[in-house]
Amino acid sequence: MVDTGELARASDPSFFYEDRDYRRLIKVAHAAAFSTKPSDEVGPQLARLGINARTDVRRVILTHLHCDHADGLTYFPNADILVSRAEFAQTHYAFPRTWPIWFRPTLVDYTDGAFGAFAACKRVTDAGDVLLVPTPGHTFGHQSVMIRSGDRWVCLAGDATHTEGQLSVGEPTGGVADVKTARATLATLGRHRAQLPLLYLPSHDPASPDKLAAWS
Ligand SMILES: [Zn+2]
Repeated sequence: MVDTGELARASDPSFFYEDRDYRRLIKVAHAAAFSTKPSDEVGPQLARLGINARTDVRRVILTHLHCDHADGLTYFPNADILVSRAEFAQTHYAFPRTWPIWFRPTLVDYTDGAFGAFAACKRVTDAGDVLLVPTPGHTFGHQSVMIRSGDRWVCLAGDATHTEGQLSVGEPTGGVADVKTARATLATLGRHRAQLPLLYLPSHDPASPDKLAAWS
């Protein structure tokens, strides 16, 4: 499982008011308005696919700790949860008071050498067909997931960019913790994409589901 989505509780803006940073975001940028129904949560979505989140999912990778990617963690008490060490050490608009009390992520260091344009990666599988690469900028320790399918690769990019178009332009937009680092990440992703067949799928790009369906 890569990222766990938002919960219905976030549809009530008052849920965020106890957190000073989110209160500021809501007031200044109107950036945190959610519309999530209980049936949209990851647990029910997996159940509709015949997958039990509690017992069938061994591993959860979080691209970063923003609530719309991490709140669904509550469905995965038995999974090994992978978060980059940098992300856990320096959070950016994360919401720790809402984390499950059992949340003890496995912290990822990128110790498995270069991969394409990336100077370092971390293998998730022995076969090397699922890799993590550091894509910081949107948050300080953001990571993306590379999955091999035959001789092709899919990149689950999280929020490295919000759309594929931003990668082509090389300019990050939206909430960015560190613009300079984000630009460097986009340059690396761009070089990487030029080296090998890569389907680039950012979480918030409305076109991502159709692109994945067309690719497979
Ligand atoms: Zn984010």
